[in-house]
Amino acid sequence: MTALRRIALLGATGSIGGSALDVIARHPGRFAVDALSAHGKVDALLDLCVRFRPRVAVIADPARETELRDGLRALGLATIGRAGEAALDEVAADPASDTVLAAIVGAAGVSSTLAAAHAGKRLLLANKEAVVMAGDLLMRAVAAGGARLLPIDSEHNAIYQCLPPDGSRGGVRRLLLTASGGPFRGRERASLAAVTPDEACAHPNWVMGPKISVDSSTLMNKGLEVIEAAHLFGIAPDRIDVVVHPQSVVHSLVDYEDGSVLAQLGNPDMRTAIAYGLAWPERIASGVAPLDLAALARLDFEAPDFDAFPCLGLAYVALRAGGSAPAVLNAANEVAVAAFLAGRLRFLAIPALIEATMASIRVEPADDLAVLRACDAAARRRARELLPDMERA
Ligand code: NAD
Ligand code: MG
Repeated sequence: MTALRRIALLGATGSIGGSALDVIARHPGRFAVDALSAHGKVDALLDLCVRFRPRVAVIADPARETELRDGLRALGLATIGRAGEAALDEVAADPASDTVLAAIVGAAGVSSTLAAAHAGKRLLLANKEAVVMAGDLLMRAVAAGGARLLPIDSEHNAIYQCLPPDGSRGGVRRLLLTASGGPFRGRERASLAAVTPDEACAHPNWVMGPKISVDSSTLMNKGLEVIEAAHLFGIAPDRIDVVVHPQSVVHSLVDYEDGSVLAQLGNPDMRTAIAYGLAWPERIASGVAPLDLAALARLDFEAPDFDAFPCLGLAYVALRAGGSAPAVLNAANEVAVAAFLAGRLRFLAIPALIEATMASIRVEPADDLAVLRACDAAARRRARELLPDMERA
């Protein structure tokens, strides 16, 4: 009988959070929910508390603490209600859980992700922006805390499955990240001038939160994933390539010196990667339908279009520059995507805003979270200053 895993799910009300709870609910004797968190949706968090009976629930927005506590009391639940970023860090590090799923979106998840790594948890990592912002710090925290990092981003989960299990990199020639190409694959740059947030969020293969959906449409998602892969697997930027694969069935590949290329395939459903991380090294049912290759009939591959989608190239530039450059790229992108979703920035101005922000912020060494947070804040300020110009341009 496998020991019960106690899970802290940070970002429980999101797309990844929902997929994780679906897998967890399929294995009641195997997993128990220790903690759940949400940003501001108290009602959604309370509904999850009724269903999963966590020890603690955290609302990140401190203004919502009373509402959460009153709600828990009214429902007669024993769940402890807490609020704020410090509470997220404490829950991530609390020995009451052995597993943390980092599924908060954006740089907002960096502190709790680092806390889980320092505490030596099994860390199921979906929050790619935390790795982009503070990859060196995170990998050091994982080593120092003795954490077991299991990537949940589907590409990195695939690569994890295809790399030698002993952690060696001998014989690895390069990593190949697949990209669906997003909803605008095959379009010329000029034809993208007037695309809307709804069009950008209509992903052909995956149902995801709005931020990552826009990132997929600009290829910034793949850019962030290149940076993520460099940190998670300790591989240099020029040994990480991107190939567009519209069906999203081959989740990524490892190319070895002897000519072998190992890939992981499956239907595009995040529950596979989540189930892998939850049960590793065992395999459990995830609810994902078996892959029917004959029904698929074909798998296509093509090179990415760096001209129509400059965000991918900008991410390589930031990765090669090192230090705080990826944190600045990420922060500027978060501002740009929020402005685009709010109808305040045109699609083609997203990379322009990021490039202009990167050009005006000096690269600092990335070995201190306070420095990285300062760079993140400076980049957000600068990007917001530049926004009006970009709207007019
Ligand atoms: P989402 O927007 O659906 O959910 C985000 C979650 O984070 C919600 O629970 C929200 O309440 C919480 N949150 C948002 N802002 C917060 C803040 N400031 N403080 C604390 N909590 C906050 O996002 P998602 O699609 O589930 O993505 C989550 C993460 O996983 C992202 O980093 C994304 O890039 C990554 N990821 C997602 C997918 C996917 O299929 N959705 C795939 C790969 C990686
Ligand atoms: Mg991905």
